[in-house]
Amino acid sequence: MLSGCISCITGGIRYHEISCRIYRFSLYAISTVSSGLSISERSGPSAEPRGGIPIPPMQNAQSPDNWHIVRITTVNRKKQAKEWYDMKTAFHVMLIPTLGCPSKCHYCWSSDERSPRMSTGTVKEVVEWLKEFRNERVTFTFHGGEPLLAGADFYREALPLLADGLRHLNPTFALQTNLWLMTPELAQVLSEYNIPIGSSIDGPEEICDRQRGDGYFKKTMRGYDIARANGLHVRFICTFTRQSVQLKEDIFEFFLNNGFTLKLHPALPSLRSDAPDEWALPPEEYGELLVFLLDKYLEHMDKIEVMNINDLCRGVFTRRGSVCTFVNCLGNTLAVGPDGSIYPCYRFVGMPEWVMGNVSDRPSMDDLSASAAWRRMQKFQDYVDEHCRDCAHTDYCRGGCAYNAMAPSNGAVMAVDPHCPAYKRIFDEISKRLDREMYESRPVGTRRRRPGLRKPERPGVTMLMHAIVEKTGALEPGY
Ligand code: SF4
Ligand code: SF4
Repeated sequence: MLSGCISCITGGIRYHEISCRIYRFSLYAISTVSSGLSISERSGPSAEPRGGIPIPPMQNAQSPDNWHIVRITTVNRKKQAKEWYDMKTAFHVMLIPTLGCPSKCHYCWSSDERSPRMSTGTVKEVVEWLKEFRNERVTFTFHGGEPLLAGADFYREALPLLADGLRHLNPTFALQTNLWLMTPELAQVLSEYNIPIGSSIDGPEEICDRQRGDGYFKKTMRGYDIARANGLHVRFICTFTRQSVQLKEDIFEFFLNNGFTLKLHPALPSLRSDAPDEWALPPEEYGELLVFLLDKYLEHMDKIEVMNINDLCRGVFTRRGSVCTFVNCLGNTLAVGPDGSIYPCYRFVGMPEWVMGNVSDRPSMDDLSASAAWRRMQKFQDYVDEHCRDCAHTDYCRGGCAYNAMAPSNGAVMAVDPHCPAYKRIFDEISKRLDREMYESRPVGTRRRRPGLRKPERPGVTMLMHAIVEKTGALEPGY
């Protein structure tokens, strides 16, 4: 049996310092049945993860007073570590059937009416390329533009090509769409592969249509009804702009009252826009918005899920990012454009200077890494290593998103993600709350709280982590 700090051990620091906050927290917080927790080891703090800490559902989950024992055993260690590893390192390929989109959202940077459509011939090339490229589980996300423009026949052919041709990689699928073009026929094709749908809605109809265009809301909800009627699971991304952030209360209530899971996107500066900051959410306001959502989420944890807050808290707790923004995405996320060009991610698609290769050439990882685009992305990682070195949050922030960082400087690496102040604000807040909750909880092995300390009146970050584990059976990432 091993015991100690989950994060330090999984982070490669086998013999942690007693002053480590997470160590102390792990002794006090998250109580669980001990069996089944597993730890895996890494060769060093900067190594790629080779394992982790899947945590089984807990007993007595309703009782916050039962959070105080962390015992880590090696039961099922190998199996669970592998599952965790697969999850954390899931290789992600975004397929962009077209950059065209029937919607004209005011802040959108990715729509291009002249864009070609991906053929199923290109999908076959993707399959041939990936057969030898990387022997790991792969997730495909169809993104755009608007991926449903490709039509039902495209998906009817493309999905079996990918699923059967890459069976050894155990592929899974997702699709990001505004749902306008959803039809029962398309929904049935997608439901055969149980494809989760990510869509976008920015709050109540008036707020949404003000920034996405008249009629957006109704068209999306019509597609939502069709998707749901065919058994598809839909989650919404809500883009907060510098205008809509003033109405954050109304927006949160909308998601809460409709029972929608909320995933937040801050409107971003764009590499393609003449006025990149027109809609962009300023970092300071973004930080305050995240703290607002943390409070609201903790208040209504039983009724809503705010995915970003899950990811941020999980990052602080495990000291590892679990979404692309907070890990080194280079090489783990790739995007294939309509003509088969390969890019670092979907946000670069359509920009020739960011092409790393083409699927028809079957490039290896070494080939891609020799491209100028790859080297520029690598330069960003080097910049982060240098400039974020002294930041307390660097392990689970990693400088934020490379695209965000380079957008304001026209592709040059001159800074970290401009949302850095927002990340610091929310990471500081979560860390502070974890510390306080740890201190206020009962010491290990005692029945009494510290003198003068009362039982917390409101759920905190600890309880949120508890809820995630209870729901998912693991601290799994929120892709
Ligand atoms: S560039 Fe940004 S959006 Fe793209 S994969 Fe990396 S972190 Fe994610
Ligand atoms: S919060 Fe800012 S300084 Fe810290 S790691 Fe993230 S980007 Fe770097």
